[in-house]
Amino acid sequence: MQRLRLEISGAVQGVGFRPFVYRLARRYDLAGWVSNTSKGVVIEVDGDTEVLVQFAEAILKEKPPVSIVQDIRSEYLDNAGFKAFEIRKSTGGKREAFVLPDLATCRECTLEILDPDNRRYRYPFTNCTNCGPRYSIINSIPYDRPSTTMSGFRMCSKCRKEYEDPLDRRFHAQPNACPECGPHLELWDSSGVSLADRDNALRRASAEVLEGRILAVKGLGGFHLIALAGTDEAVRTLRSRKGREMKPFALMFPSILQISEFCVVSSEERKVLQSHRSPIVLLKKRDKLNSPLFISELVSPSNPEYGVMLPYTPLHILLMMEIGEPVVATSGNLSDEPICTDEIDALERLKGIADLFLVHNRPIARHVDDSIVRIFREREMILRRARGYAPLPLSMDDKAVSVFATGGHLKNTLALSIGRNVFTSQHIGDLETVQALVAFDEVWSSIEALYNAHPDIIAYDMHPDYISSARARESEIRGIPVQHHIAHVHSCILDRGVRPPLLGVAWDGTGYGSDGTVWGGEFFHITGGTAKRIAHLRRFPLPGGDRAVKEPRRSALGLLSELYDDPVKHLPPGAFSPEESDVMRRMISLKLNSPLTSSVGRLFDAVASILDLHQTIEFEGQAAMALEHAIGNKETEKSYPIEVVRSPGEPMVIDWASLIEGVIMDTSGGIDTAIISAKFHNTLAESIAVIAETIGERKVVFSGGCFQNVYLLQRVLDILESMGFEPFIHRSLPANDGGIAPGQVMAALMMNSE
Ligand code: ZN
Ligand code: ZN
Ligand code: FE
Repeated sequence: MQRLRLEISGAVQGVGFRPFVYRLARRYDLAGWVSNTSKGVVIEVDGDTEVLVQFAEAILKEKPPVSIVQDIRSEYLDNAGFKAFEIRKSTGGKREAFVLPDLATCRECTLEILDPDNRRYRYPFTNCTNCGPRYSIINSIPYDRPSTTMSGFRMCSKCRKEYEDPLDRRFHAQPNACPECGPHLELWDSSGVSLADRDNALRRASAEVLEGRILAVKGLGGFHLIALAGTDEAVRTLRSRKGREMKPFALMFPSILQISEFCVVSSEERKVLQSHRSPIVLLKKRDKLNSPLFISELVSPSNPEYGVMLPYTPLHILLMMEIGEPVVATSGNLSDEPICTDEIDALERLKGIADLFLVHNRPIARHVDDSIVRIFREREMILRRARGYAPLPLSMDDKAVSVFATGGHLKNTLALSIGRNVFTSQHIGDLETVQALVAFDEVWSSIEALYNAHPDIIAYDMHPDYISSARARESEIRGIPVQHHIAHVHSCILDRGVRPPLLGVAWDGTGYGSDGTVWGGEFFHITGGTAKRIAHLRRFPLPGGDRAVKEPRRSALGLLSELYDDPVKHLPPGAFSPEESDVMRRMISLKLNSPLTSSVGRLFDAVASILDLHQTIEFEGQAAMALEHAIGNKETEKSYPIEVVRSPGEPMVIDWASLIEGVIMDTSGGIDTAIISAKFHNTLAESIAVIAETIGERKVVFSGGCFQNVYLLQRVLDILESMGFEPFIHRSLPANDGGIAPGQVMAALMMNSE
């Protein structure tokens, strides 16, 4: 007989871990105890060594589905003579346990709300330890009911009994509630007058959606705007009221079955859709519809994909069941502002957009958007990281110093490192509106409060004008500026736990370079703490600077002016009026507000303009996406010539001159746009291989928004792998600027230790 002591750290609190251990100990007939500690869970049990080993194995094998074990330490001690197994009171101390993300409704809870005999029948706030709100209701840790937004609701005797019973699924489920004691719904008109409450509110709201009305729904981490996807009328109204012309809307479907009527769904995609993270998944539209229903063209115009999700709260499940067909479910906000979380605020901000408001009285502690992922090579690729993912940390080697990072300007997130963990905030968004800045400040102070943070270093982007950087510079903590693309590379290094030396490739739209020009097609040799820029794209002028981001034609004119005396001749007619192009050509030749750029994102824009896919755009990356989508099913192994210019003491330069000449020749030769685009992508992939070969590092790390382009990514991975390289792409962090903050943390730690 021996005593086994297990110390388990990770996401093991508030997920039913202790009752699980309790049941397991009973199964193996072991006496002892389990308790929550500041770091996780501790278990002690007496027993025969052989049984103890089986018990420890069963813990790892059968642990609750939403728990994450980061570390497990075991120790064999002298038998303690325990008489029974008990759940002991939590020990105090500084909390290091993880805050969990919000979890989609579990199967058991779903069955309960659909069961007329259950006391939670049709109750929209049903949850248990395996599911329900977490991050969106936590005000502070430890995660106990008084520190959540459920503190105002007193559990009834039935709920209390479940809460206190270690064998119940709702043992210590902090948001536990029922129709008798928990939050409830109300339906408001657009001036906030209550039209119905409880189940009547839900039924009436669904009926109104079916009539074509636009409904604002207070969900888990904020408001959705919901409209019937099956009628052009409803979608067109939503587009015009929201001021959003082309950017695809996400869809919510009542069932996975209905999704598969409209989209091609692989088993991996199905798994992610139905997971407790329940993100929006980008799925290929079916060529031939297999449904009596219909989805308006306006949902995702000229795009081969839909962004699709399943209902992830009881409220959404019940609502979708009533509606019975796909709806647009887009963030409840004005174009680029953060999502609304408060019903009074929503009435104000969504006035003129929503006809009706389905609200409830459970406050939302912080905004958490829907996450967006796609499946690439059978793995998740995260495009927007929020609900279901944030704020789970990534781990690295233990560090004595703590770093806080303020991220980039677009798709902003914040990050904080403590010890071996790097916590990345939920998606905040583009810091271009007052509301976004308010959200930025709120998330900042909420992270500091949640983790009781005392960072030693504050890391930020080098850009002189970024608001996120200005905020960091105001701080009294020691600051470390980090170059944008170096942060990108370190983001992937952290994400994949790769150790230098390595080649880092960072391709994106825009980032401030350490030489004052606009970077975005960068290669770094990373050895230990230093990052040496060893190659970049040939530079070209961007007439109008930042304005070029919204106008691919400006990138095209800047690029072509490097090659031709009469660049306009090579642009599609009508790209510019004669006056416009005159002004811009003068700007370029006088070097007036025409910064030089080595951005691959802008090269994509230029080619999209030359091929007349887009001259101006509505949202970031739109032209590049159109160029990728233009390939369709066309295949070619062909590419254009590309030259790598080497000069001693200087970074290598990838010269696009012959590439662009090839594109122009093919265009005037009437070659299919699909083929030209494929050749363009192939050429870029090959250019990476040339640089990789020259540097000779086996490990190659990819980051930056351009590597959300799956054609490019697939191509470059295939080439590098066939040449014996070991490429790494993002897994848990976005390749776009949403990954900048954790990358800044990592880069600052590297620089600090040099
Ligand atoms: Zn549940
Ligand atoms: Zn109750
Ligand atoms: Fe970037």
